[in-house]
Amino acid sequence: MDNIATLAGKTKPESLIEGSPKENILIKTMKALVYHGPGKKSWEDKAKPTIRESTDVIVKIINTTICGTDLHILKGDVPEVTDGRILGHEGVGVIEEIGNAVTGFKKGDHVIISCITSCGKCVYCKRSMYSHCVNGGWILGHLIDGTQAEYVRIPFADNSLYHIPAGSDEEALVMLSDILPTGFECGVLNGKVQPGNTVAIVGSGPIGLAALLTAQFYSPAEIIMIDPDDNRLETAKKFGATHTINNSRENAVERVKELTGGIGVDTAIEAVGIPATFDLCQSVVAPGGVIANVGVHGKSVELHLEKLWSQNITITTRLVDTVTTPMLLKTIQSKKLDSKKLITHRFPIKDIIKAYDVFEHAAKERALKVILISE
Ligand SMILES: [Zn+2]
Ligand SMILES: [Zn+2]
Repeated sequence: MDNIATLAGKTKPESLIEGSPKENILIKTMKALVYHGPGKKSWEDKAKPTIRESTDVIVKIINTTICGTDLHILKGDVPEVTDGRILGHEGVGVIEEIGNAVTGFKKGDHVIISCITSCGKCVYCKRSMYSHCVNGGWILGHLIDGTQAEYVRIPFADNSLYHIPAGSDEEALVMLSDILPTGFECGVLNGKVQPGNTVAIVGSGPIGLAALLTAQFYSPAEIIMIDPDDNRLETAKKFGATHTINNSRENAVERVKELTGGIGVDTAIEAVGIPATFDLCQSVVAPGGVIANVGVHGKSVELHLEKLWSQNITITTRLVDTVTTPMLLKTIQSKKLDSKKLITHRFPIKDIIKAYDVFEHAAKERALKVILISE
């Protein structure tokens, strides 16, 4: 990630531009959700973004959302995010301004913003590992200003945006910015979910549910959802889980063994990001199985090689590459995948602080994805 930070450092932060009284007269402002260090955020005036590179576009946001990753940033878990940064890496919008090297899009086009920015030319982009693009990767709402604003600048627009087909339900497509490709690529594809296999998904939040929805492309025999919240487990049942386990009252390891004839699951998907949930995956994976980590971990975990060394298992990690976004878009268009059911709350974007409050208390509020709507 060092190279990304260096690149981002080359461009002048917005805060410096705003500081110049002479330029201030010319700068148009907009409203945005701004990070001011751990625990501090505000909905405030910022300079409206402008084209900096010929490969940029400016997108007027129609819908955006809040991600678990934004909560990690606000907890101080992602120290590269600095005071003054606009958060958010998901959304749909309409192109307002366009750099003169952009050829795949034009002013007025409706677009899905990918959480991953990719130049399309570097060694990682050439390997379809867009998440590690040396000129991009996950930079939105992280190293450059993000989508929880009225406008956002998208670098390398030709590779980082997707056209929205006419007549689409646009808020449903916000799920393509991050959670659907993340659940699918990091959980289902890395986890090698196959017809007739058994799958356990630890964590029934939006990402775990995205993995649950997309795992069903492959018709596994059993999908066991594990979570301490009954409401989320009820949702998982409706979304296609064959079994649910509330690990606040049940012994999840024993229950999984019972459900799988004593051997455990072929795929264990970790969709939380804490040591206890990774540990659970280590205890329920069957010989020959895969532990597919999806969660964002802030602490080290204990790897039980004393038990796993002989078990032929695979442990995978991945940052979403968003290479499956076009495929997932087709499954939504053809109604094979109903992404809209992940949306539980809607707020006008000016009420984003209230929306954060609801998302932070997701269990109590029965919240999954919270959609913010621009005026
Ligand atoms: Zn996200
Ligand atoms: Zn690249």
